[in-house]
Formats: sequence, C-alpha cells, structure tokens
Amino acid sequence: MEAQAYIEQGWATDLHAPRETMRAAVARVQVPGTPELEAEGPSGAARIPSLAHRALREALQHGPALVQVPRGGYAPLVACARCRAVARCPVCSGPLALGRDGAVTCRWCGRNTANWSCPECGHTRLRMVQVGTTRTAEELGRAFPGVPVVASGAREDHGVIAGVDARPRLVIATPGAEPVADGGYWAVLLLDGAALSSRPDLGAASEAMRQWTNAAVLAHPDAPIVLLGRPHPVAAQALVRWDHAGFARRELAERAQLHLPPAWRAARLDGPRLRLEDLFEQARAAGFEVLGPVATPQHGGSAVPGAAVPGAQPPSMRGLIRAPLTRGRELAAFLQLQVREASVHREEPVRVELDPTVLW
Ligand SMILES: [Zn+2]
Ligand SMILES: [Zn+2]
Repeated sequence: MEAQAYIEQGWATDLHAPRETMRAAVARVQVPGTPELEAEGPSGAARIPSLAHRALREALQHGPALVQVPRGGYAPLVACARCRAVARCPVCSGPLALGRDGAVTCRWCGRNTANWSCPECGHTRLRMVQVGTTRTAEELGRAFPGVPVVASGAREDHGVIAGVDARPRLVIATPGAEPVADGGYWAVLLLDGAALSSRPDLGAASEAMRQWTNAAVLAHPDAPIVLLGRPHPVAAQALVRWDHAGFARRELAERAQLHLPPAWRAARLDGPRLRLEDLFEQARAAGFEVLGPVATPQHGGSAVPGAAVPGAQPPSMRGLIRAPLTRGRELAAFLQLQVREASVHREEPVRVELDPTVLW
C-alpha cells in the first residue's frame, strides 16, 4: 500500500511483466470454497482437509512441500473445554499456552499453571483454540510416516532454517521463517488464513497478503498453492489473480475514504489529558483533523506503548491528529514545534508518533 501511494503521488511507476512471463513464473493459487470443501465429506471441515493431504502426497513424489502456519509453538491459545472461555493466567491474566509435554504456561509471565480450573464454570479440562507449528508438524508427521518433517521458526528447536535441499520432506514454518527450497517447493499450504487476514487491526489483510505471497514465491511454477482456513475473501481473490497492485489500489482508496495512512498522514499522541486537550485545540485551529483524546486502550492488559517515555508517568490519554498528504509536512512541523515548546516550558511530555503502524 505504501508503494501504491508513491505511485499515485507520481513518485514511482508501476512495472508490469508481460502476462506470459507471469503465467510461466507464478504458481497456481487455489482457495477451496464451501462447495469444494463439502465435497470432501467430514474432512472438509478439518483444519487440513483431505484435498490438502492429496496435494502434499503428490508433491512429496517430487521434492519438498511447505506448510505455512501463522503461529509458533504447540497450542498457543487454549480455552475451557466446557464453556469455551479463553484460559488466562491466575497471576497476571495473560493467555495460557499448551506445550507438547502437556505443560500449561502463561505467555506473558512464563509461569506454569499446574492445576488450572475455569473461573467461569469450574471445569478443569482445556481445549486447543489455536494450533501452532509444533503441533502441526506432529500431526503431519503421523499422516506421512517415513517423510522427514522440519519446523522453522523463532520458537522452534532449530530456530529459523535458511534453506532445504530438493529431497522430499515436509517443511512447517511460521510466516517469515520459510526456508528457501532447492528447485522450489512442490506444494505450498497456507493454513489458518483467517488468523492472519481477518484480525481487526488496520492492515491485517495486506500484511496477510504479503506473508502469503512471500511463501508462494518459494514454490516451483508447476506447484499448487492452497490457501485454507477462511481467509479474508478480497485478499484471497487478489492472491488467486496475483493482482497485488489492484489489491493495494483498493485498500488505499479505502484508507483515503477513512482519512487513514498511507492515504493521509496521522500522528498518534499519548500524554496527560490537559496537555493533549490544549494541543488538540491548537491543531484544530490550524485546520487539522483531530480524534480524541480518549482513555488509552489497554490491549488485553499488555503494556501501553506510550509508557516508554523516560521518567514520565504512564500517559493516560491518546488521540490522533490527521492531515491530507498535501499538508503532511505542515503537520510534522506543527508537532515538532509543539514538542520543542513543551520541553522549553518543562511541561509533561507527550509521546508523538507520526504514521504509526498501529493506530490505536
Ligand atoms: Zn469454563
Ligand atoms: Zn501470567
């Protein structure tokens, strides 16, 4: 999207490869829909339906196959097996993860929770909500006995693996940790599509598109690429058509309508209420758009990014100041002046981030 914004401002030009070149180089992406999955019978509802197993089996006749799994670990999120409430750490309320050895640990504080019981209903059994690379590798290892299975990712035993040779093997990797295969992969499965592309965060779909594409380009041109797990439909269709520019144009137009980056420039401010209110009044007077301030959202109880101001109290309020791209420099100059004035007058610091990746 950022690149598309440069194109639309005339700073860059789109370069297209001829259609035949693209067709020869790019693997075929399939997104099985409801009819295809229903035709598979009960396995169609599985995380890895039988059509995906068939694609892997066929690929392993020729060489390595890649399986992209959005999350590392065994079962990175678990819930009460009876009432389905997400299981949380009794000490810090962090999400609990299940390890291969059956140990239940907190993802925030690392404590082991030996005897978990559900605060909602008292039940003591857990079910897996998310399945990570380790568990996926274990399942596929059982489904393909005798085929070597390697897992690549920051949290795996061997860490991120850079490359694999052309011999048949199953490679399970988190996004960004996919090894390059000698001669390319003979099939690529992209699992849990919704986990990557349908998060409510701004830009989740384009980030998913990027991560799927980075895995897809590692495939041999004759290999099938199968995207599973209810992916965001617009992103999935753009991947099928290999139309990244069209997808970026559409996303960018949406951002322009919503006055969001990269179509607009936005600054996120964190600080004490009175300082922000004063600043926002001046921003409004200068003709900028202002949103907030409101109480800083606590993302699931995690640390507030603004709390990193040295020596300051954790900021309690947050807001946005926005400007169209044509006034972007003016907005930056305005903020710089405000920050300088505040430090001259020894006022409580406000944390300013221009074009933050996470807006709220
Ligand atoms: Zn429960
Ligand atoms: Zn904890």
